Amino acid sequence: MEVITRFAPSPTGKLHLGSIRTALYSWLFAKRFNGKFILRIENTDQKRIDQESVNSIINSMQWLGLNWDSGPYFQTSKIANYRAIIKNMIDSGLAYPCYCSQERLNNLRSVQIKTGKKPKYDRHCRLLKNKCIKNKNYVIRFANPEIGYVTFYDLIRGKIIFQNSELDDLIILRSNGIPTYNFCAVIDDHEMNITHVIRGEDHLNNTPRQLNIFKALKLIPPKYAHISMILDENKRKLSKKNQDTDILQYKDDGILPEALLNYLVRLGWSCGNQEIFNIDEMKNLFDIKSINKANCIFNKSKLLWINQYYISNIPTSNILTKIIEYFKTYNIDTKHGPNLEKIVNLFKSRSKTLKEIFNQIVYFYRDIYKIEINLLSKYLLINQKFILELIYKNLKIIQVWSTKDIKNIILKTAQKTNTNMKNVAMPLRIILSGRENTPSIDILIYTCGKIYTLKKIKIALQFITNK
Ligand code: GLU
Ligand code: ZN
Repeated sequence: MEVITRFAPSPTGKLHLGSIRTALYSWLFAKRFNGKFILRIENTDQKRIDQESVNSIINSMQWLGLNWDSGPYFQTSKIANYRAIIKNMIDSGLAYPCYCSQERLNNLRSVQIKTGKKPKYDRHCRLLKNKCIKNKNYVIRFANPEIGYVTFYDLIRGKIIFQNSELDDLIILRSNGIPTYNFCAVIDDHEMNITHVIRGEDHLNNTPRQLNIFKALKLIPPKYAHISMILDENKRKLSKKNQDTDILQYKDDGILPEALLNYLVRLGWSCGNQEIFNIDEMKNLFDIKSINKANCIFNKSKLLWINQYYISNIPTSNILTKIIEYFKTYNIDTKHGPNLEKIVNLFKSRSKTLKEIFNQIVYFYRDIYKIEINLLSKYLLINQKFILELIYKNLKIIQVWSTKDIKNIILKTAQKTNTNMKNVAMPLRIILSGRENTPSIDILIYTCGKIYTLKKIKIALQFITNK
């Protein structure tokens, strides 16, 4: 049997890490068994399509490369189909209209709470049958079995049992004629031939309700796996309500998609001691049985650590276009500075995110005629002008632009001007890169190239002269 999984978000906000991890696990499970992965948008609980949320879902999935084999399907385009099934269910006694007013339901609830009972619909209209006063406003409820129990084997949690007496006769069609999530999910999981439902633990209570609907309709349910929640560093559940970070924010912040996926796959799943998994390894090794039952805690520094690993280890050419995006966003031309790829290559291992790379290297391009004057002033020596002139002269006549020869010039200049290497290097560092921390000075000068280096030293000399 072909494995078919789905990711079925409700478009009620941006996707956060928890939802995307659910998507990733469903996707990996399908890939592992050469199956299919479906994207289904569950939007019957909404008044109108929240296009922004839909876009955010689609863009997030595309950014991460979680491609779907079919969809996106929108449940709102199937309303007639759901209604037809509900009509049959009413005809065969599996569902019934409930005419109870909101007032009656509110009263019932407060009495139940006062008497220490679990608030639950009392099946008033099911018991009264046709004796109800038939006002226009009614909902359709599923006639849940009153006795017995529902049991299923969760692929992560093992055997789960719910008593039917605990379950409500849930509303499957609202008074406005729109069916509800629990019902639509059953119909779609059936019609889309879903074999495995992998979803958040917050849906564990829905599963017995959905299983009862499957059973009533004589349909075979899929297998279920409920994955634990992700908690933030304060042990709060990640959720849309808590305004948790939108997945696309990680993109803007310079997290690589492969790093985020790697971080998420390891959050709650393990395979020996391995930390780094490329996509192919994930697809081959992912095993639902090794998913952790306990909640996991989001750890930003681990995400950054993995991101840094990827930044340092993938070819610079793979991240170059992403760095160029930042330059475009800030409208900065890279033509007049040093070779961008070489500069990225030099600074990437010192950065945890792509944005950090950008922040470290933007100086080389933003304002070619600028010097970080305040910073430079901290390090100026009395004979600084002389030192810089000497370096300028010697770099200009250098035959082969090599780190060895560059280093030699700096060393000789230090000796000749009676100072040490560090005192010569520091001002140069600031002149070229605008910062105090850089890779070694010979490599920095070498990477900046002759034209840029000479141009910058000249500008610095003008500044020192004027001072
Ligand atoms: N639409 C549900 C949600 O966004 C998911 C339901 C499911 O996976 O069955 O939480
Ligand atoms: Zn009722």
